[in-house]
Parts: sequence; structure tokens; C-alpha cells
Amino acid sequence: MDVIPLKTANRDSARAYTRRFHVMAKPGGAKCNIDCQYCFYLHKEALLHQPKQPQMDSDTLDAFIRSYIEGQDGDEITFSWQGGEPTLLGIDYFRQIVALQQKYCPPGSTIHNDLQTNGILLNDEWCHFLKEYGFLVGLSIDGPRDLHDKYRVTRSGKPTFDLVMAAVELLHRHQVPFNTLAVINRHNALYPLEVYRFLTRELGARYIQFTPCVEPKDFKRAAPQYWNDNMLPVIGSELSRPGHPMSIVTDWSVDPDDWGTFLTVVFEEWVNNDLGRVQVNLFETAVAQTMGYASQLCVTAEFCGKALAIEHDGNVFSCDHFVYPEYRLGNINQRPLSHMALSTRQEAFGMSKRDSLPDYCRKCDHLHLCWGECPKNRLIKSPDGEIGLNYLCPGIKSFFDYASPILVGIAHMLRKPVL
Ligand code: SF4
Ligand code: SF4
Repeated sequence: MDVIPLKTANRDSARAYTRRFHVMAKPGGAKCNIDCQYCFYLHKEALLHQPKQPQMDSDTLDAFIRSYIEGQDGDEITFSWQGGEPTLLGIDYFRQIVALQQKYCPPGSTIHNDLQTNGILLNDEWCHFLKEYGFLVGLSIDGPRDLHDKYRVTRSGKPTFDLVMAAVELLHRHQVPFNTLAVINRHNALYPLEVYRFLTRELGARYIQFTPCVEPKDFKRAAPQYWNDNMLPVIGSELSRPGHPMSIVTDWSVDPDDWGTFLTVVFEEWVNNDLGRVQVNLFETAVAQTMGYASQLCVTAEFCGKALAIEHDGNVFSCDHFVYPEYRLGNINQRPLSHMALSTRQEAFGMSKRDSLPDYCRKCDHLHLCWGECPKNRLIKSPDGEIGLNYLCPGIKSFFDYASPILVGIAHMLRKPVL
């Protein structure tokens, strides 16, 4: 197998690196009404010294919406609202958002909105609003009751499953379209069919996102890639999986092998029963990549850096998972978003996804489908001690060992002309 040369970031490779960018907006900061044990964002309240009730003020919101619209070169403009829990800001705040979007929307362009929520505050009034303005809701739910309630609890430790199911019922009743986002952690990873069948058969979800929970033990303080290299474990060692007192990750992080098994079992079920009917983000993308298209997901793309994050105070960061002072690009009240998104610094951030890959990845048969996954998860060393290997590697490898021939078959079937 050929080895991809390192440090090839130049103007030619930059051609593949388009000008389009996306921003995850967190106008309510990290504030949330529940306290999921595995949440990677709640600690930003302390890390970024956020006030008790963070809220993007009107001038900053105006600057963000105007600058984001001005920075887009397509006719379809999508805003993504996240937190914390964005519904804590109230409907009137979102009415203000929609009014500003209408004010700045250029003729001929269409604005879309995504809202990622735990669903708990949704009610009839919210659903009317979401329906009226065509919001696409991303609902966080980790599986059936016992699996969901393992980590997704209130601040007083109470379960949230019934509250989320009430939101599902409301969304169905008001015909508000929604996707599901399930965080796959050390516990629910052991129940792949239970999670998948619950989402598809009981909730009726037709678009499903799975996100592996991977959190280094010192994630509240240490920014990704600022780890102490001497402390990073080698692939296959006990410290490179959860459960060991000296493990690199929290106890609730998914075990890398379980991640592979989870994907394999769900993929088999999806291929046998739901292909073309249910969209699972990781599988759809793998099919597209096998057909020769670029990845639709940053985590499995060659480059990244096109999904920035903006906090309530207008500070802009390289990525939603890199909201640390080390990755601050500037403030929307001082610099247009496009300057930050297309800056040399941000371009280097995105390019390094490929250019910092260890030899172990560059020689891997699955490189074109994986691209070393997300840099925030590159917490371990290769067998020969090179840094920069992804914590999930064993699972990703075993999944693609199984799925690759099937992906080739699906790609072949999709290419066949319809008679
Ligand atoms: S750092 Fe990870 S989550 Fe962020 S844009 Fe890159 S691949 Fe995506
Ligand atoms: S499967 Fe492992 S070795 Fe292969 S590209 Fe992905 S992270 Fe690298």
C-alpha cells in the first residue's frame, strides 16, 4: 500500500479545501437544564468563566447573523443552534433570531435552522414555532429507558427518559421533523440492537446520528493536542481503554472494541432491513466515500476545520470540540466570521487532520474511509510509539474489516443503471 506523504498541505491540496464553512452557535453558552455525566460542554462554564445566565446580547447576535450570512457563498444557508440547552433562551429569543435572519437574508437565498435539544422544555408553543419556521430538531436520546437514563439525568440525579418521550410525542403530533442523536458510551455500546431498534421502531427515527463518547480524563483542563505526549498510552494497552485507574479516558467513555462491535451489529441490521429507508450518518457517508465522493462528515473527511463554534460572548473557536482558549480565533464583534474561518491559522487546523496522521494510519487499508477520525480523539500511540493515533482505532479497523466488502457491494448496486 502506498504511503500518503506527510506535510503536503500546499495550494494544490487546498483546492479540495472549499471556502464554505459552518458555525455551531451557542448563544446560551454551556447552560443546561440537565446534567449528563458524560457532557463535554458543561465544564465550559468554569473554563471560559461564563456568567450564571449566559446569553448572547442583541448586538452580538446581530453581528453573528449578519456576518455568517455574508460569509456564505451558496444560496442555502444553515444555522445550527446548540448549547448547553438552547431552548433555555426561550421562544422570544428565537423569534429575534428569525427576524434578524429575515432582515439580512439576500434575495434568492433560503435560510434553514437546526436546533439540537434534549427536548425537555418543548411544549405546544415551541412546536408551533419550530413548525412555522421549518426548524429541523436534533433530539438527544441514547436508547430505551434504562440505557438513556444511565447518564442522562437531571442535576438532582433524576431520570429524563419520560420527559424526552413526551417531547417525541409532541414533535410527532405537530409534525415537526426531527433527527436523533445518540451518544454511544461504555454502557449502551453493549446493546447495539436494543439502541438501534428502539430508535427506528419505537421512535420512528429516519435519520440517526451516533457519536462515540471519548473523553480524556483531564478534558476539563487540557485542550486537545496539548496533551503530555509521555502520558499517552500505546494501542492495545490497558491504559488505552476505559476502566483502568490510570486509563487515558473517563470510565464512561466507550471501549474502542465495543465501538467496533456496536457499529458492526447495527450496520448488519441496517443493511438487512433499513437500507434506503433509514439514514445512519456514519453508514451513509461510508457508502458515499466508497463510491468516490468526499465524506459528508468532518470526522471521516481528509480535512476538517469547516465547522467552527461561536460562544455567547461572540468568541469564535476552531471547532465545537475545541472550545478552549488555545483555539480561540477571535471575536465576532471585532472580525468578520469569514476572516476567521478562512484564516491561515484555521486552514492549518483543518489540514493538520491529514498531515499529522501517524505512519500507522497512512499505511492502513481503511485510510480513505477513516482519515484518522477526529483529532480530538487522537489520544494514543501506534504500536511503534508514534503519537497521533485515534483512541477508537481498534474498533474502527474491525468495523471496516467487516463492512468494506459490503460497502463495495452497495456502491456497485447504486451505480447500476435502473432498467
Ligand atoms: S476537530 Fe473533529 S469534530 Fe472538529 S471539525 Fe475536525 S473532525 Fe470535526
Ligand atoms: S482505522 Fe486506525 S489506522 Fe486506519 S486510518 Fe483509522 S485510525 Fe488510522
